Amino acid sequence: MRAAYAEGAGIYRIVPQAVALPTDLEDLRALVGRAAAARTPLIPRGAGSGMTGGNVGAGTIVDLSGGGGFKELTVDPQRRLARAGASVTAQAINDAARPYGLRLPPDPSSSGFATSGGMVATNAAGPRSVRYGSVRRWVEAVEIVAADGEVRIVRRGMGNGDQFSLTADSRRLIAQRFPKTPKSSSGYALDRFAASGDELDLLIGSEGTLAIVTAVDWRLDPIPPHVAGAALGFADLAALGEAVPFLLSLDPSAVELLDRTLLQLIPDAPDVAGLLLVEFERETAAAARGAVGDAARGLKETLAFVETAIDRAGLERLWEVRRLASPALARLPETRRSLQIIEDGCVPLAALGAYVAGVRASADRQGVPVAIFGHAGDGHVHVNALPDLSGPGWLGALQRLYAEVCDLLVRLGGVPAGEHGIGRLRAGILERFYGPEIMALFVDVKRAYDPLSILNPGVIIPAADWAPLAHLKVGEGAAAIPDDIAARLREVERTAGWAIPKPELAR
Ligand SMILES: Cc1cc2nc3c(=O)[nH]c(=O)nc-3n(C[C@H](O)[C@H](O)[C@H](O)COP(=O)(O)OP(=O)(O)OC[C@H]3O[C@@H](n4cnc5c(N)ncnc54)[C@H](O)[C@@H]3O)c2cc1C
Repeated sequence: MRAAYAEGAGIYRIVPQAVALPTDLEDLRALVGRAAAARTPLIPRGAGSGMTGGNVGAGTIVDLSGGGGFKELTVDPQRRLARAGASVTAQAINDAARPYGLRLPPDPSSSGFATSGGMVATNAAGPRSVRYGSVRRWVEAVEIVAADGEVRIVRRGMGNGDQFSLTADSRRLIAQRFPKTPKSSSGYALDRFAASGDELDLLIGSEGTLAIVTAVDWRLDPIPPHVAGAALGFADLAALGEAVPFLLSLDPSAVELLDRTLLQLIPDAPDVAGLLLVEFERETAAAARGAVGDAARGLKETLAFVETAIDRAGLERLWEVRRLASPALARLPETRRSLQIIEDGCVPLAALGAYVAGVRASADRQGVPVAIFGHAGDGHVHVNALPDLSGPGWLGALQRLYAEVCDLLVRLGGVPAGEHGIGRLRAGILERFYGPEIMALFVDVKRAYDPLSILNPGVIIPAADWAPLAHLKVGEGAAAIPDDIAARLREVERTAGWAIPKPELAR
């Protein structure tokens, strides 16, 4: 059972000391009380699909994905709210809201398995976040179990409680030091907290380090009736610098990039440097088609490839190329693993072309193939490193790639995580992006909520022995677990089977 919880998505394998499957709020409170008394670390966990190692650790895994007392789901169409227990997935919320013409607008690709607790904890986002923001904007309230075992409900507009407050000096620092990127899931959102004065903004994106989320009140939004879109290919990455802002001026609901590094893996994909998939949602079909026409006309001079879709079915065909990306990565030979080590950087829009070019150059220098794709409209791309593990030197090459891309992000005014969080993977580089004073404020936040440091220690605030590429699930150093469990975990990764209850893997 412990082995079945030793891996999440992402690169790590850490065998926990124990696994807890709390059945309800009281059970969870008792567990937190015992952990506090014994100083045992607790690792809150949903589906385990998080990429940054926040869902694994050496303490006790607290799996809330199984349902139990955390599977409530009710929709209030009048107030446009859904109340969801921590285990409820984005897809389940949307299935329940659709009959009322409503939806949860941010659409993580992991909607089928990402839990409400996990999405709030990472401030998850998706292709549509370019228009609708990350989940932060859609959280009305959370129910939490705090580190002292107290159960609280924290609402939007309720103020900052008495847990943590900012001085005028700290506010000035935050205004100066926080990178100005379209999205971020990098450390405690002190900038949002300073702006709203809401404690809720500290809890969203706190990656299980401040409290355990047991339920979420989600705000819902009407589903726009019409949609159209286009696939736009560019011969040169430099064109992105003007194309993306132009597309944003047309109010798209998605602007997704597939870079050549990824297109090469997909059969029959267009032969271009980068492909933008653009979607427009509108109140009328004519308006949606009109926006597609404006996009294609406005970029005529720079496009090497264009294909349009005037309705939902056409759009789905057009986006098929994107869906083929995951199976293509899963089909790679077993020695060529897809490792998420530099996978979530987000930069100011004007720097996107330079970021993608810089990642490619660094990957070439280190001889590590990469696949780059993601949310161009937010200046945010995912990078999967695809090292060949059968040869020597791959670990050193990955370490250098990690360091170079970190330097690049700092230079471009970016953040290391646009939507996946800091986790263990990036805890030790956070200070480079924010400086020591903001890092000290992060430590103050952690102390205020979790003075005994029992909630996910080593996540966001780095452990003393932090090493981003230690405890890998691949290579000779990988922790020993039973072969059958290792094979099942590998299959979960290959098929994105994160919805499978982990106790089943151990049976
Ligand atoms: C194929 C694939 C596609 C993905 N696509 C996207 C995408 O489009 N957008 C995106 O944002 N992410 C994406 N992800 C990453 C992942 O799905 C999200 O980070 C998701 O929000 C994690 O949810 P989870 O339930 O799996 O949480 P877990 O992985 O179990 O946990 C993630 C973090 O949240 C904390 N946590 C979990 N539950 C709780 C809780 N109840 N209380 C407090 N803390 C908690 C954990 O401690 C950990 O730090 C993708 C992952 C995969 C494998």
